[in-house]
Amino acid sequence: MSGQPKTPTDRGLRPLPLTGGCPCGAIRYEIGAAPLLLYACHCTNCQRQSGGAFAMNMPVRSETFRILRGQPKAWRRLSPTGVETVSWFCADCGGRIHGSRAGRPESITVRAGGLDDTSWLVPAFHMFVRSAQPWIQLPAPDCYDTVPHGFRARAKAWQVAWGRC
Ligand SMILES: [Zn+2]
Ligand SMILES: [Zn+2]
Repeated sequence: MSGQPKTPTDRGLRPLPLTGGCPCGAIRYEIGAAPLLLYACHCTNCQRQSGGAFAMNMPVRSETFRILRGQPKAWRRLSPTGVETVSWFCADCGGRIHGSRAGRPESITVRAGGLDDTSWLVPAFHMFVRSAQPWIQLPAPDCYDTVPHGFRARAKAWQVAWGRC
């Protein structure tokens, strides 16, 4: 039964839970409810941490995120604005899993490239495009030099587009 054509992916509903993990498979996780938002960040921190041109960040409610296997290691540091930030990664392969911030226990931010199905990921907007790689074609008007205002409203719009509201 090989050669079965894949059903074309449309934007919208994906079966829950969403699943993902690190490249070596030591860490596996699931997300039991619709994510809150997906955005691309082109800041130089995200470039350095990902080793790529940008990061795909997907905030989810903390209680909907569950580690199924393994124990991520924490890298703690202060953000440029002085907030304690924790990056969680696999101690075996170094793959980034998610990040959290002090004072915001209700949500964590998953590195969406680690999901098993990335075919449906369309960021709501691109931020820190002032440091974006110059060869990237950015989808104006959803681009911001730094952080956009109205984060919450954008999250709502993305949830509607995703088909879960
Ligand atoms: Zn790993
Ligand atoms: Zn960034």
